[in-house]
Amino acid sequence: MTNPPHRPRIALLSERVKNQIAAGEVVERPASVVKELVENALDAGARSIEVDLEEGGVRLVRVVDDGGGMDRADVELAFVAHATSKLHEVEDLDHIASLGFRGEALASIGAVARCSILSRRSEDATGWRIECEGGALSVALEAGAPGGTRIEVRDLFYNVPARRRFLKQTATEFGRCLDVLQRLCLAHEGVAFRVTHDGKRALDVEASMDLRARVRRLFGADLATELVEVRAADGATRLTGLVAPPRFARGDATRQMWFINGRAVRDKVLLRALKDGYHGFVFDHRQPVAFLALSMDPALVDVNVHPQKSDVRFREERRLFGFLVNSIRAAVSRTDMATPGARLLEIASQREQRESVLPFRTAFVPSPRVPAEPFVVREVAPSPGWARANPSAAESPENAAGALDPARRAGDIAPWAALSGTPLVQVARTYILRALEDGFEIVDQHALHERITFEALRGELARGEVEVQRLLVPELVEVDRAQVTLIASRAAELARAGVLIEPFGDTTLAVHGLPARLQRPRPALLVRDVVALLEEDKSLAGEKLLEEVLHRAACRASVMAGDALTADEMRSLLERGRHLESDQTCVHGRPTRVRFALADLERAFHRR
Ligand code: ADP
Ligand code: MG
Repeated sequence: MTNPPHRPRIALLSERVKNQIAAGEVVERPASVVKELVENALDAGARSIEVDLEEGGVRLVRVVDDGGGMDRADVELAFVAHATSKLHEVEDLDHIASLGFRGEALASIGAVARCSILSRRSEDATGWRIECEGGALSVALEAGAPGGTRIEVRDLFYNVPARRRFLKQTATEFGRCLDVLQRLCLAHEGVAFRVTHDGKRALDVEASMDLRARVRRLFGADLATELVEVRAADGATRLTGLVAPPRFARGDATRQMWFINGRAVRDKVLLRALKDGYHGFVFDHRQPVAFLALSMDPALVDVNVHPQKSDVRFREERRLFGFLVNSIRAAVSRTDMATPGARLLEIASQREQRESVLPFRTAFVPSPRVPAEPFVVREVAPSPGWARANPSAAESPENAAGALDPARRAGDIAPWAALSGTPLVQVARTYILRALEDGFEIVDQHALHERITFEALRGELARGEVEVQRLLVPELVEVDRAQVTLIASRAAELARAGVLIEPFGDTTLAVHGLPARLQRPRPALLVRDVVALLEEDKSLAGEKLLEEVLHRAACRASVMAGDALTADEMRSLLERGRHLESDQTCVHGRPTRVRFALADLERAFHRR
């Protein structure tokens, strides 16, 4: 037996291999190269940044900036690992203001592509050029150059086939690059961005454009004009930016952008705060559109968690979270939530093309809940009370506390001049039609009433005092044994939402009280809803549970589609809606009103 020639089992990796391995952490795809190079340009104080991409950035990423530039010593160190001009001591990490600081981006990129730098500091007479190919550095040569820096990265992963195979199609890689560039461009007002892909212009923003103007350029005027400004502060922490009306929500999160101290981040806490801020305004699986910048003491936020630096860690997370959710919510409720008639016409004409039927039939297809006579228009005479037109409501003793009862609510309702003279028409016992000065509005009576009731209940809950109406005779509801046990174990929590339920035998629950605000509570339906809610999600607890219970209560106790309303009832409903900040979507995020402005009418009648 011959021994194989002796080789030490453990050896130090060469600098080049180390860099290739490290590269995997920083550089995943062309978009990561784009991010690192543009962030470097921003760190160098650039006011104008040009990015040229070829084949989704795989073949070429070129970034040209007019920033501070580099001298000979700088270019010689730029591709060397852990060489950075931005961080000198560990203590500096606490108040880092630049986007980069690790000094590993260029070293990593240089290890897995063919790169070059051409740079000149404005105060120097000549510039310098250096190349780095697969980690091998050339000598620096003197070269003429404009002030600033031009970095080219060609043939990404040409020497790492395993990684190259993981790259996607050109369109996909380009899409990711563009996403990164859009975020950077929105995070840095005051900087001009010009981007091309395979020679075609892909993004063009002047330095003078503010956030709204940038959104307009990137995503269009429809969105930009509807955005509502956010401006809030909690001590030195400031939140600014723009939020879109809920109807702009989409299937993906590409138009959800968060910036902390100028850095685009994709942090879980922030995304969660945005979701909660829109809670109840959009469907759960839809992603709201918002562009938000947080500026705060760098000592309160650690951006140093991950090499790609999109996750962060906050010192006072709970407090920050509450501040964010409240500020966002306040702004969202100021957005215009009515669905524009134009949108309706669009949907109608799309369907028309698909099904070639009359547009208006399809636009107003009645929902399945609507009873017969869907297109009957009923004009109603004024009548003083709610109960008169609604025999079922009159029978119910709880109705004395009715949310729509004018006597009880009168104090809350300020006169609304615009509404008092407007004729109201109920259509299909479901929609309320109201003339506006330059158009008309259609309100879904159930959706609006539900929203009003829910907001009132939520207000009471927030003040810790949900007013309870005790039932003279408890209402008994038959369920199964497991459900009795389930409700019994949660009874104390439910009581906080004003829902008093107790077991009454093995398979019966007794409802002793419900929130007083419910206009015509339907205990049996509500109990079944709550049981279903708890069975569906066992972990539901605390505020979330109470809110969900109140959702259900508001829904069950509201005017339904199919209920006839008198003119006074309609008026009262609309007036109460007007005093609500967030009357424009129902609790589930469906719109409560659709508005046709003059322009929509003109379009519908081909006047323009
Ligand atoms: P980091 O940004 O973390 O410092 P990089 O590897 O991205 O590390 O860059 C290394 C160094 O190269 C930077 O610290 C900076 O001094 C210099 N540099 C890179 N790009 C530019 C640029 N566009 N303009 C001026 N200097 C640059
Ligand atoms: Mg950098």
